[in-house]
Amino acid sequence: MKLLNFFLILFFLVTGIHSQSTDKFQMETSVATLELNDEGEILITSKAEDEAKIGLRVNELWDITLVNKHNLRKERALTDISAFRTETSPQKLRFYAKELYIDDISTTVNAEFTIEVKNDSFLFSGNISCTTGEWIIKSLDYPRLSKMEVGKENTKIYWPDGLGQLFNSPTEFGTKKSLDYPSGWGTMPWFTLNSGNYGVYVGVHNPLQHNANITLGAMDGTFDFISNIHTPIYEADYTMPEFVVKPYKGTWHHAAKYYRSWYNENFKIASSPDWVINDTGWLLAILKQQNGNVMWPYRDIDQLCDIAKKFNLTTIGLFGWAVGGHDHLYPNYLPDPLMGGEKELKDAIKRAQDRGIKIILYANGKLIDTSTDYYRYRGMETMMFGNDKKPRMDFYVKHNNKSPEIFCWACTGSGYWRKTMHDLALQANSLGADGILFDQLGVLRPELCYSTYHDHKPGHGDSKYRLQLIREIREDLKEKNSNFVVMTEASNTSVLQEIDYTHGWGKAYAPSDNAFPDLYKYTFPEFMTTQRNGNPLLTKTDANFALLYGLKYEVETRYTADVEYLLKGKTPDADSYWNVNYPPDINKMKSLTMEESAKYVHSLIDFENTHGNFLKRGKFISDEGITITGKDVIARGFTNDNDDEMGVVVWNQNETEERSFKLSVPDYKYIRADDPLNQNVRQNSLLAPNSIRFLLFKKIN
Ligand SMILES: [Zn+2]
Repeated sequence: MKLLNFFLILFFLVTGIHSQSTDKFQMETSVATLELNDEGEILITSKAEDEAKIGLRVNELWDITLVNKHNLRKERALTDISAFRTETSPQKLRFYAKELYIDDISTTVNAEFTIEVKNDSFLFSGNISCTTGEWIIKSLDYPRLSKMEVGKENTKIYWPDGLGQLFNSPTEFGTKKSLDYPSGWGTMPWFTLNSGNYGVYVGVHNPLQHNANITLGAMDGTFDFISNIHTPIYEADYTMPEFVVKPYKGTWHHAAKYYRSWYNENFKIASSPDWVINDTGWLLAILKQQNGNVMWPYRDIDQLCDIAKKFNLTTIGLFGWAVGGHDHLYPNYLPDPLMGGEKELKDAIKRAQDRGIKIILYANGKLIDTSTDYYRYRGMETMMFGNDKKPRMDFYVKHNNKSPEIFCWACTGSGYWRKTMHDLALQANSLGADGILFDQLGVLRPELCYSTYHDHKPGHGDSKYRLQLIREIREDLKEKNSNFVVMTEASNTSVLQEIDYTHGWGKAYAPSDNAFPDLYKYTFPEFMTTQRNGNPLLTKTDANFALLYGLKYEVETRYTADVEYLLKGKTPDADSYWNVNYPPDINKMKSLTMEESAKYVHSLIDFENTHGNFLKRGKFISDEGITITGKDVIARGFTNDNDDEMGVVVWNQNETEERSFKLSVPDYKYIRADDPLNQNVRQNSLLAPNSIRFLLFKKIN
């Protein structure tokens, strides 16, 4: 066997990058071919004519940045490209170099980059190491795709910022965007370009889910794109994960399924308790604001329950419930005597639960208020440091007439911080709450921390420890109370493994330009999240949006004028939020009364419960297999548990006019249609302005 390998190796073509070889190297997947020509250019071309072309230049394919071990500010780029040699074997390309030089001095850095075909994709991988440890590999840019063209004028860009964005052209996309994975802005480490029947998937398949920054740029005046994956490393040795470039036939759904199948091989998404799956949504209530203004003393949690009931919401999130109020004195979360004290809080939580309402308590997973003793005496162990040895600072300025609170970021790589958060979860359980929300753990970018006090090496991000923090707490608390949940704000495919219920944050959690919640929701239909609505009401549009995409509803009360709107029906004017920096949308509050909003949301939730086998406990399938025609109308589908029936929700987005539509669901037979306010409607009768309809189909065997 060894002898055979030896002879095979003899057949390998070993050349320099600028080789004069006349044979072109080729390898292929089922739908595309990769070719290396003798000018050092790699071209990936679809087998079907004109569907996709991806050009790479070997001398631009990677960029390595080093920092000197003794002087972390001394950074150098490794530009010694001519030292690399090329080796080819069937279905694999290899570029390698030993002892790369900077200015005639050996760095003792060895590097290898490989491209091979695996799982019908082109995989880019490799390794870098510094044998003497004199230099640290700071970062890597690889692979750099110099030119991507998919379907020319039909190119659409599917981009996982928040729940997802869809851009219909390079112009809509803009010049350049980056996904900072894992964060609320880079929720999955992949994107796809798709022309409707052909696409290219670009992704990072890293079982460690380390930080990755994926950039896509549109080339001005063309349908061409450039892309780059940047990886912060800070190690003397680094084995690259698989960077995947996969041309595929079909719609964007194929790309989503491809990522999901890789995800399933490595991770498991948290399974939420039944109460979360059946939850209708939550009323987010700030009890005490940052400036000390108490709006809801603990005894008034009863009134919050009345409001939740009016909207048909089954959970209340208590924010600003502790001594400091919201975004003040973190991480000190002691029940506030001013609001009634611990016993009154416990009693109020119990009364809410007796009425069928779940209570979640807030904690921030990242912020330390620098005015606290915690900062003074535990800051050194817990806070995140930049490369400049200074704490990483942050501000949340809620009022325009009060000196801003000054926060620094805690690092979840600190064992003491994880213990602090764990203690808060234990406290929430002992107060009788149904769960705890650790704010920001799903949101914040994976910043690099240079503290020497933490479990990670200096220069690493803390995203791995965010997951560890949540996992440790969740496992312990579930043992004490199996229905206790851990929540966070925003999602990404790292925290997704340990979060029972998400508070929506980021792109596409509310209607907006290019919003495409389908991307995340189709990839992870089990994902349980609220929409995001920073208002003390829901407009019909915002409520219908939540129903269509399977998001739980949200109503927020944050300021005194919100309270007056909710309790007294008082419509605000410009003056109502005079000292507030982020007021709710006053136009929305003027557009309908709280009673009107609550009545509509209540009926919509009843309707959703009626069709709960699809809309709550079913599987969101986006628009796969569904074709709808008609102006202003869109449709989304949900299959039931047995996968033998499909419920399709059609929404007329026009706010003033009726609309007709035609729906086609091949392989399914129409059964019946249902509207929230007008039952037993006909399948294709006109849809009232801004209304939705549920249509039931049965699979034809
Ligand atoms: Zn740290």
